[in-house]
Amino acid sequence: MGSLANWAGNVQFRAATVHRPASVPELQRLVASSARIRAIGTGHSFSPVADTDGDLVSLAGLPPVVDVDTTAAAVRVSAGQRYSDIAPRMHAAGLALANLASLPHISVAGAVATGTHGSGDANQSLAAAVSALELVVAGGDLVQVSRDADPARFPGLVVALGACGVVTSLTLDAIPAFAVRQWVYEDVPFSEVMAAFDDIASAAYSVSMWTDWRGERMTQVWLKRADPADVPPERWHGGRLADADLHPIAGLPAANCTPQLGRPGPWHERLPHFRPEFTPSAGEELQSEFLLDRAHAVDALAALSRIAATLAPAVQVSEIRTVAADTLWLSPAHGNDSVAFHFTWVPDPGAVAPALSAAQAALAPFGPRPHWGKLSTIPAADVAGRYPRMDDFRRLVAEFDGPGQFRNEYADAYLWPGG
Ligand SMILES: Cc1cc2nc3c(=O)[nH]c(=O)nc-3n(C[C@H](O)[C@H](O)[C@H](O)COP(=O)(O)OP(=O)(O)OC[C@H]3O[C@@H](n4cnc5c(N)ncnc54)[C@H](O)[C@@H]3O)c2cc1C
Repeated sequence: MGSLANWAGNVQFRAATVHRPASVPELQRLVASSARIRAIGTGHSFSPVADTDGDLVSLAGLPPVVDVDTTAAAVRVSAGQRYSDIAPRMHAAGLALANLASLPHISVAGAVATGTHGSGDANQSLAAAVSALELVVAGGDLVQVSRDADPARFPGLVVALGACGVVTSLTLDAIPAFAVRQWVYEDVPFSEVMAAFDDIASAAYSVSMWTDWRGERMTQVWLKRADPADVPPERWHGGRLADADLHPIAGLPAANCTPQLGRPGPWHERLPHFRPEFTPSAGEELQSEFLLDRAHAVDALAALSRIAATLAPAVQVSEIRTVAADTLWLSPAHGNDSVAFHFTWVPDPGAVAPALSAAQAALAPFGPRPHWGKLSTIPAADVAGRYPRMDDFRRLVAEFDGPGQFRNEYADAYLWPGG
């Protein structure tokens, strides 16, 4: 981060200082001496989830640990590492993560803290891969927790919005490295998606459906296939196979997107939509995303298509993905095999506001859970009520952060709606 703003520039962090400790003991001393402190990852959240009026602390200066354990099929990483830092190291050792988000530049700790996800019927949120955490809790103590040793509390500590302490390292489950080929279909009609949602969503290891709401169709459907490749048919569900690499936003160059046209590549160079070697420009978009039970996918798509005229002027592109259920208390996919409706908005809050309200109203009957790192104006009490373990999470925060050192307004609003 060059300045005290997030990646998109829509959140000006109020912290006077961003600390950058070079060691865990230095971080512990910092936490012990700070009245109010919060971790910041790579600042890619659009919501003020990382904001604080106290101190911010970045872990990007910690020694960069990537300990690959091929026997245990696991990797332990220091919290400031980005997925693009760790994935090539894992691949070189013959291992992979089961999934990645669209952008590999985000920090592992930051992505995990907000329940960040990719796509795929069988793929859970990235946080579901976490088997152990080390964190500095209130007062500066260093604590280790793991899925096996602490099954009662661990599911609350992973997607924790930074509210339980500063995570210093994470251990992630790994699977054998695999190759992926990416194919894109253009102009798949909504009618086909509604008639065959499950077929389309399950057509590949990871599927992304894109629309600009300017026609009754998915402008593109991206299929990331991990199976041995047969060349897919020219026509599929009413769409046609693309004959050139594409950017999901019409008119933007495909050069910063991961290769398509079925060219095989390692998992970490195909599962994200964007290449790590291109730094995406800042400040040119806002984002919102809502996860809901995938049983409602078709009805929710129909509801949104009815307000397409309101959405279209404010949307650069929307993406529809599926996410497998997990058990993490604050994961937006908690307990539900989910469908995620994402909106990349124009970078104009005034234009976005009516479209965001309309999208939320259209999705309201399906009890959507907003992505913690993106924009939402759904009342906090409604959101909190959609998490059956919220009371348990409140108790966990009280246990790990008695003095309230890690509290911020954003998390407080959901934890204690109404004050
Ligand atoms: C271009 C773009 C594409 C995106 N694509 C996707 C996508 O495909 N799927 C998806 O689900 N989301 C996506 N997102 C959202 C993004 O994944 C989340 O906002 C994620 O949290 C960003 O990670 P970060 O490192 O920037 O975290 P930050 O925004 O810096 O912080 C997020 C939260 O993590 C906490 N945190 C950070 N580090 C630590 C730590 N060490 N210990 C404790 N808490 C910590 C912070 O306190 C804060 O609460 C995208 C965002 C952008 C800008």
